[in-house]
Amino acid sequence: MTVTVVNPATEETIATLDEAGVEEADAAVARAKAAFPGWRDVTPRERGRLLRRLATLVEENGEGLARIESQNVGKPIAGARGEVAMVADVFHFYAGAVDKKHGETIPVAGGVDMTFREPLGVVGLIVPWNFPLNISSWKLGPALACGNTVVLKPAELTPLSALELARLALEAGIPEGVLNVVNGPGRTVGERIVEHPDVAKVAFTGSTEIGRRVGEIASQSVKRVTLELGGKSANVVFADADLEKAAASAPLAVFGNAGQDCCARSRILVERSAVEPFLEALEREVKALRVGDPLDDATQMGPLISADHREKVASYVDDDAPVAFRGSAPDGPGYWFPPTVLSPVSNDDRAAREEIFGPVAAVIPFDDEAEAVKIANDTVYGLSGSIWTRDGARALRVARALEIGNISVNSNSSVRVTTPFGGFKQSGVGRELGPFALEHYTELKNVFISTS
Ligand code: NAD
Repeated sequence: MTVTVVNPATEETIATLDEAGVEEADAAVARAKAAFPGWRDVTPRERGRLLRRLATLVEENGEGLARIESQNVGKPIAGARGEVAMVADVFHFYAGAVDKKHGETIPVAGGVDMTFREPLGVVGLIVPWNFPLNISSWKLGPALACGNTVVLKPAELTPLSALELARLALEAGIPEGVLNVVNGPGRTVGERIVEHPDVAKVAFTGSTEIGRRVGEIASQSVKRVTLELGGKSANVVFADADLEKAAASAPLAVFGNAGQDCCARSRILVERSAVEPFLEALEREVKALRVGDPLDDATQMGPLISADHREKVASYVDDDAPVAFRGSAPDGPGYWFPPTVLSPVSNDDRAAREEIFGPVAAVIPFDDEAEAVKIANDTVYGLSGSIWTRDGARALRVARALEIGNISVNSNSSVRVTTPFGGFKQSGVGRELGPFALEHYTELKNVFISTS
């Protein structure tokens, strides 16, 4: 079987690859299992050096990787360059973490008690198509730093950057079998990785629906699982905020990556007295968004990933949808969809409840702080969100009241190499990035030595 990889901006085929099945998944797990003892025993200094070398190779090959990502996902090249730079930073960070995961000594009677953080063994990494290389690195960095070997399954639509990264890992000197990529469907290859008895842990990023399935299968073997799932994030704008700044920042907070972002602030909650001036400013910004050729340095938004996905996104903008205004989108080939703002929307409407994963924002008015918090929390998700206000006390109050893993005040950025990332509620289990990810790739061992 082969799989055709398409550029979503042109609908042209950019690669034809062999499609893996269960047999290839089993072979990859076997390679990872065989490589584990050797990789676990590599000295911390050497493992750190190898990861640092991989980081440097990502930097040296940055433009090529960014172009692969841009052409395979339809990402604007400027953003893709930033993502690849982050991938290098992630490997630099975890190269430095190799020798910093310390155990403890614990006072006990009759001896000495100490803890160790042991690697788990073979770890299965399953990633989505929206940030293929970034999300892979968030898992690979801590997994490899802790001494695990991995089987990485990219999304069927976007396997190219993972394959290139595996090649760079070998070039960096990371031994054969430590990082294995299997390119195949989720239903077969993905499920096999999750159920495989020799896989100790699965780190999954994707939809909440598939995350639930992964959790169910993994529970059969009591497998360790971290899940980074969907979102329906709120961007809460109070009337005392710098409205121009909030409106200037709002479009890319939901239309960045064409809205295919788990952190997309797709519910814009605006205090009722500020709705009119905010919408005026927002309309100017949305109409000025540059939507087009992803390889053009000036482009801010590209196409959606596929024709099927465009159809799904379009279903939220039917004849009854309260379309306030829209930006532009090119004609011709490519899965284009214009940035679209719906207003006013009730938080009970489908567009406010479901993760659209496309460039559609819902503006929801609120009357006071208590109502803003209630609406923002009225969702099964809890990944990201923003608060725009000049009142510092209110910013802190609301930040503490929101059931969300990543909150920004007067900013819409959610992700940094050094800070924890992950969701409350059905947005996931566990945290990625920073030192926090390391505990999800080790098992805590306690050793007591009698001194009597
Ligand atoms: P998806 O859940 O359809 O697929 C994700 C991955 O899981 C793919 O590699 C897919 O092949 C695999 N998969 C599919 N079925 C499987 C199964 N039965 N068993 C094992 N693996 C299976 O998600 P997607 O459409 O690729 O990505 C979009 C979703 O990812 C959105 O919901 C988005 O919010 C979420 N996401 C979350 C984060 C986060 O960090 N929280 C980041 C990016 C994307």
